[in-house]
Amino acid sequence: MTFKELNLREEILSAIGELGFEFPMPVQEKVIPFMLEQNTDLVALAQTGTGKTAAFGLPILNMIDAGRKQVQALVLAPTRELCIQISNDLKNFSKYLHTRVVPVYGGEDIRIQLKQLDQTPQIIVATPGRLIDLIERGKIKLENINYLVLDEADEMLNMGFKDDIETILKETPETRRTTLFSATMPAEIARIAKKYMKDHEEITVGSKNSGSDNVSHIYYVSQAKQRYLVLKRIVDLNPDIYGIVFCRTRQETKEVAEHLMKDGYNADALHGDLSQAQRDTVMQKFRIRNIQLLVATDVAARGLDVSDLTHVINYNLPDDVEVYTHRSGRTGRANKKGVSVSIIHSKEKFKIKDIERMLKKKFEQQLIPNGLEVCKKQLFHMIDKMQHVEVNEEQISPYMDQIMKQLEYLDKSELLKRFVSLEFNRFLDYYKDSEDLNYHEREKGSDRGERGERNEKRGRRGEKMRLKMNIGSRDGINPSRLLGIINDIVGDKTISVGDIEVTNKFTFFDVFVDQVDKIVNAFAEQKDIELAIARESKGFSESTGKRKTENGKRRTDRPYSNDGGYKRKYSGDDRKSGGNRKSDSSSDRRSDSRRKSAVDNNKPWRNKR
Ligand code: AMP
Repeated sequence: MTFKELNLREEILSAIGELGFEFPMPVQEKVIPFMLEQNTDLVALAQTGTGKTAAFGLPILNMIDAGRKQVQALVLAPTRELCIQISNDLKNFSKYLHTRVVPVYGGEDIRIQLKQLDQTPQIIVATPGRLIDLIERGKIKLENINYLVLDEADEMLNMGFKDDIETILKETPETRRTTLFSATMPAEIARIAKKYMKDHEEITVGSKNSGSDNVSHIYYVSQAKQRYLVLKRIVDLNPDIYGIVFCRTRQETKEVAEHLMKDGYNADALHGDLSQAQRDTVMQKFRIRNIQLLVATDVAARGLDVSDLTHVINYNLPDDVEVYTHRSGRTGRANKKGVSVSIIHSKEKFKIKDIERMLKKKFEQQLIPNGLEVCKKQLFHMIDKMQHVEVNEEQISPYMDQIMKQLEYLDKSELLKRFVSLEFNRFLDYYKDSEDLNYHEREKGSDRGERGERNEKRGRRGEKMRLKMNIGSRDGINPSRLLGIINDIVGDKTISVGDIEVTNKFTFFDVFVDQVDKIVNAFAEQKDIELAIARESKGFSESTGKRKTENGKRRTDRPYSNDGGYKRKYSGDDRKSGGNRKSDSSSDRRSDSRRKSAVDNNKPWRNKR
């Protein structure tokens, strides 16, 4: 189908032709003929970004009498940004018509809008609060409107505009034709439709409540405390990401954005503590892709309309399925593919099931990529960029002879290795010792602190044996330092360490039976530290004969994983300095400082896009 077949006026066809609209989008194919040919009201279930502004805008412009100086159409929208955007779209569509469109919204000096209203427009695009203000001042009269559009009606209700909408509806004539657009169909919308709309038709684009089919939904399961590291992995795995990271609170939004910026990403925050001018600036920077990642709260992101996001990241899952629908509906627009990613912890799997049920969509659990996978992805992204880079012959050629001469002794593969290393060593370094961020079932006990369950899980992996080391707290040992020592001495990170007890002179800890030989043999070569199998029955301490948790001795129930992150802490002069290991990965933190210094050195860790 073409726009011409939809019987739109030539002036409109010319204008949208100039905008590059060749074929109507699905919502336009359904709504335009309906509005032009039928005389009833309409409820259209469609996501933002599906082309709905043209779907209602083109038929309304087609039908308006530009010679009549009366407000004939009113479009209500939830936010000032959407209001401005709709108004601009309508102005563009009506470039060759003589129809006047005026937006009225809160947050702008009312005098400017009063002036624009002096010359009565045929179409008003408004946010509810400001519109009521102007009606009360007698500046806007809705008694002659033929067309009323409620855009993003569910958002307007979410934002508490229910009473305002009803007040406005009462100001309009019963003869008006009403078109309501909503991404979801909560009961309140159905009630409004029933009360204020006549024999309305319902059109659904895509399945009800389900976002676009272009969006795939994936989730990663990790421990809650590792959320930020997971976010970084996701971003690093997708070098061309252009997306919104949704957080629950302003505070979290600020923190995540600050961390990302500090770590060298093109990110910024959008939240309610910013002034309108600051918000406009951030949104504009994001629109023109100066910012690659926007960290935002749901409320602050409402006004933002960007069609080509590659990803939406749910840093936290929202409580409400409708909020999830709105978030994920921000990607996969205008026929492009998009991904909605959620970072969850294991107890939230039921929430994913709920959303799957409501959306009638399958979510895919993916493993959080390890450092190697991320490096591979980044490497080939860089190679790909190198293949497609525009070579500036003119400016490079004067130096070519000298460069060729200088590098004469290197063959092609050696040359490539050096260039790749130059660009890539920092990345490889950063991810070298990165830990596995996936949540594994056996970690359950550590999350819940339930002995029984943890031991049961452990039993499935094999028996543990208690080992004793001849250094203790007086030598500066604590659990994290112990892991550093084991890591250093064994030389890899395969040893899994269980219950740890540190006394003044000794340190006791559990390891799996099948790893005992490996660790004992490695320590046998050490002069200063002795490691032996402890004389101990399960659950009792050699040193006291009492149950370990009862005697107030230092112990931890966390099954520590001995990853490379501890290595540095123990090495060299650092040994006496203590330093408790925090729950996040010190390897990641360590590399953060590297990453930061890379930025500080003005050699950006990642190419700013
Ligand atoms: P909307 O849902 O109205 O915000 O539209 C989403 C995006 O799609 C906007 O950037 C529109 O300019 C664009 N758009 C709308 N209709 C068409 C069409 N038929 N062909 C190409 N682009 C369109």
